[in-house]
Amino acid sequence: MSALLIRHARILTLDDALTEVDGDLLAIDGRIVAVGAVAPSLVPAEVRVVDARGGWLLPGFVQSHVHLCQTLFRGLADDMPLLEWLRQRVWPLEAAHRPDTLRTAVRLAAWELLRGGTTTVLTMETVHDTDAVIEAVVETGLRATIGKCMMDDARTPDMPGRLQEATRASIDESLALHRRWHGAAGGRVRVALAPRFAVSCTRDLLEEVGRLSAQQGVLVHTHASENRDEVAYVRQKSGLANMAYLEAVGLASPRLCAAHCVWVDEAEQDLMAGRGVKVLHCPGSNLKLGSGLAPVVELRRRGIGVSLGADGAACNNRLDMFTEMRLAATLQAVRAGAGALTARDALWMATREGARALGLDAEIGSLEPGKRADLQVIDRDRGGLAPGGDAWSTIVYAAGPEHVRTVAVDGRVLVDDFCVQHLDEAEVVAEARRAQRALLGRAGLL
Ligand SMILES: [Zn+2]
Repeated sequence: MSALLIRHARILTLDDALTEVDGDLLAIDGRIVAVGAVAPSLVPAEVRVVDARGGWLLPGFVQSHVHLCQTLFRGLADDMPLLEWLRQRVWPLEAAHRPDTLRTAVRLAAWELLRGGTTTVLTMETVHDTDAVIEAVVETGLRATIGKCMMDDARTPDMPGRLQEATRASIDESLALHRRWHGAAGGRVRVALAPRFAVSCTRDLLEEVGRLSAQQGVLVHTHASENRDEVAYVRQKSGLANMAYLEAVGLASPRLCAAHCVWVDEAEQDLMAGRGVKVLHCPGSNLKLGSGLAPVVELRRRGIGVSLGADGAACNNRLDMFTEMRLAATLQAVRAGAGALTARDALWMATREGARALGLDAEIGSLEPGKRADLQVIDRDRGGLAPGGDAWSTIVYAAGPEHVRTVAVDGRVLVDDFCVQHLDEAEVVAEARRAQRALLGRAGLL
């Protein structure tokens, strides 16, 4: 048995009522047993105690759209629009990945994610060697839903040969990963189907993914309507608006996690609301690639679940949920007026909506008895956060990864006293430098 007792915290539970309470949290064998007042009789003799005095205790962040494998591309693919960015940089670099460089990318990403309070990700990896990614994720302690990227349309301009798959092979490999890994590491690892976007996938592949998702309940992770050139390409290819096309191939369902959705018109938004499609909002990436400002207020007003992610380090270039929360709120202030998306909304999107998008709302996203003990403590007594005031707005508008004192996943402490416990920063950085050079060499970009 393992037990974790966090003491003397101001707890933001992120339950339905957004309850705040002063007190303790007890987790036994990875699950929360009590929040607030913890009866001494519940606490086992052997327990790890974390003193969280002067801290806010809240759920770990759920980043619903990242690409762990792209973390090694940080600083290599900047100041370009989406399709040029993919063709000239990201695809050649993804094609150059091998199992060893993928493992390095995962370790670097996990260091940054955990350091900044992110405990769960939905990640789209590259086409090949996803077993190496999953093995590395298991070691890092992160919770992740992982998909091997699917790309099978030979008509896609400038797609590197190594990334071009046969339709059946792409599906078979995705299903094999699902059989091997879904539910592994005590349920920490889950596997999704991940067609990259309508541009790079054939209609046959998308239809089969839709059929398998409906039949087996598998999550589908894709990109949609990020950029106007992409939307125009899909219209030319299919004759339909992007979301209407995804519906036509059978993908529009509560299991569809669609990253970006910057350019979705009113009819598409109605369709998404009717089908329960989830939107993965990535404001930092949308700004840097010049993609646009997503209509988040309108989507949420329709009841569409909108969660948050950093996207990859090649287009953000941070994997930092604090930045995404702040951008999500401030961009909607510009679009729809101050307060159109509040600090409470942003923190809700960063936790509960992420959990919902992943189909894990019963397991994570809030600090309530019965849920997994995925949590973080943010230090309150820091110069940049003082003198404080409203906890929610201080966390969203002022805090950053440097204020995260403790992080646990499944009740296992992975960040203690601001330090990632099992990944040495200097080692991870040195390893990443070597791996990035190897990638550039293989991609012919040195
Ligand atoms: Zn992406």
